[in-house]
Amino acid sequence: MAEIHKLFPSMDGNDFQREELLSYFKTILTKIDELKDPNKLTLGEMPAYTEDYYNRMIHKAGIPKAGMEIEEVIQKLIKLVEGHRYVNRNYVANAAPLPNIASIIGNLVMVLVNGNNLWDVEGSAAAAAEVEVTSMLSKLIGYDENVSSGYTTWGGQGAVFNSLRLAIARYAPDSNETGVPENLYCFCSELSHYSLYKSLEATGIGVRNLVRVKVNDDHSMDVQDLKEKMEHVIAKGGVPLYVLATMGTTDTFGIDDIREMKRIAVELEDKYHLQSIYIHADSAMGGMYAFFNDYDFEGNPLGLEDNVQEVLKSYQQKFIHIQLADSLVFDFHKLGQTPYVTSLFLVKNREDLKYMDLDEVETPYVGNRGYGSYHTGYTLECSRMGSALAIYASLLAFGKEGYQELLANYIRVNLAFREGLTKEVANVAITNEISPITTFRLYPEKTKWHEELSGLLPVEEVMEINQFNEEFAEVIGAQRDQIYFGNTKKQRLVNVANATKRISVYAHKFFTISPYSTLEEVHRYVEFLKEHQDLYLKTKSIAYNLN
Ligand SMILES: *Cc1c(COP(=O)(O)O)cnc(C)c1O
Repeated sequence: MAEIHKLFPSMDGNDFQREELLSYFKTILTKIDELKDPNKLTLGEMPAYTEDYYNRMIHKAGIPKAGMEIEEVIQKLIKLVEGHRYVNRNYVANAAPLPNIASIIGNLVMVLVNGNNLWDVEGSAAAAAEVEVTSMLSKLIGYDENVSSGYTTWGGQGAVFNSLRLAIARYAPDSNETGVPENLYCFCSELSHYSLYKSLEATGIGVRNLVRVKVNDDHSMDVQDLKEKMEHVIAKGGVPLYVLATMGTTDTFGIDDIREMKRIAVELEDKYHLQSIYIHADSAMGGMYAFFNDYDFEGNPLGLEDNVQEVLKSYQQKFIHIQLADSLVFDFHKLGQTPYVTSLFLVKNREDLKYMDLDEVETPYVGNRGYGSYHTGYTLECSRMGSALAIYASLLAFGKEGYQELLANYIRVNLAFREGLTKEVANVAITNEISPITTFRLYPEKTKWHEELSGLLPVEEVMEINQFNEEFAEVIGAQRDQIYFGNTKKQRLVNVANATKRISVYAHKFFTISPYSTLEEVHRYVEFLKEHQDLYLKTKSIAYNLN
């Protein structure tokens, strides 16, 4: 067993074994640092992704007969890391975090004591961290921390699923025995994340009962359309069960007016004598901006620039109402810069959870015994990782002000990028509101965004412009080891002149998630686009002339 013992941390905390473990950590950190290059997106060279790349892997893989030395295991791991995208200043594609140091340490502590977040007897650190961050964030957004509850779960998508499950159980408390009632309807904006679609699938409600609501020009939900669609469902004998308020759409950062949505829900409940309609704020993308809910714009303690303040003020107006939601989510692994998966699902009223809790007879192994006082039998997971530790560590290390600085910088850089891009590139249109994300669309000649928005262009032309942008995305995508821009095939839907069906428009995405994406970098981003576009236009016109 001595050989096997070498594979474990010490029992007694001796220096020798600690030094050994530390030396492994040091090797890994050193090797990864050696692969870093601030001018590239990847750690070292990307592997050649040939057709048979994964097939060859499948063929070669096998468990070694005798175990390898740890040094060799490390080498193998570093091999996996080679070519990995690394979120530095060249990454402007999506909400991918660069885990901050506190969160790395929090995760490490989680792994070292390896608590099971299911039950405090098996995971006291994770349980305490979960209780603390739930209270901290409840206070931040204006939930009563003595009434609210929360737990970490499988992402913003998991939060949507959990909330829908809550809504069903609250509406029909015996549904765990009798199944989900028919005739339940859910509402979300047509730009919301597909999480709700999946959840309707998985709960058995069925996606046919998902009603998509139109959006306004600022990508927020058209609440008038919401009201009409809910009344339509009611008129046909359906039950409006659940409304998803997206607070920061994934691609364009549109923020739904949750106050108005709640007002409409209450109005319909009264008018038609309905049970309370559940509202989940899908704040996976935007929720972190609630950190400005009590920012003093008069005093401006962080000395934020006027144009940055203006944006943040408008966010404050929206996010102070997030407390109206029955539940919401903080996806720290997006704008909060922590490792995957660190999502906290927050519930306004912990009483709601009782509908989902297991009976004692169903949990013979854990909880409901004389000992232990924290048992999360209401989660969908059984064993749970203690990811609240990474959130806890981050909140302590950043403080409110640290997060405010980080979040303000996303806005600052986007303001500068928009200015630079429109100045340097003639045929570009910025296609969303100012936010941590800038979506933009290029045109073969001059911009026609306003015509597209007003539904004046024929379908063929919109498709052609889509094609033009999609090809350009291929061109810059091939150079993504220099700067990696994102894109979306559904920035929004527009009317067209010669058809009734609305058409999705394609747009490029500039998402400055890295803390190293600062004002000084903006000219690089703009230059990159300008250069590649000039080249692209040239090759296009050569191709046209040849035809
Ligand atoms: C990212 C995102 C989700 C999904 O979150 P995960 O953490 O990836 O599961 C859900 N909703 C919105 C609005 C998102 O942006």
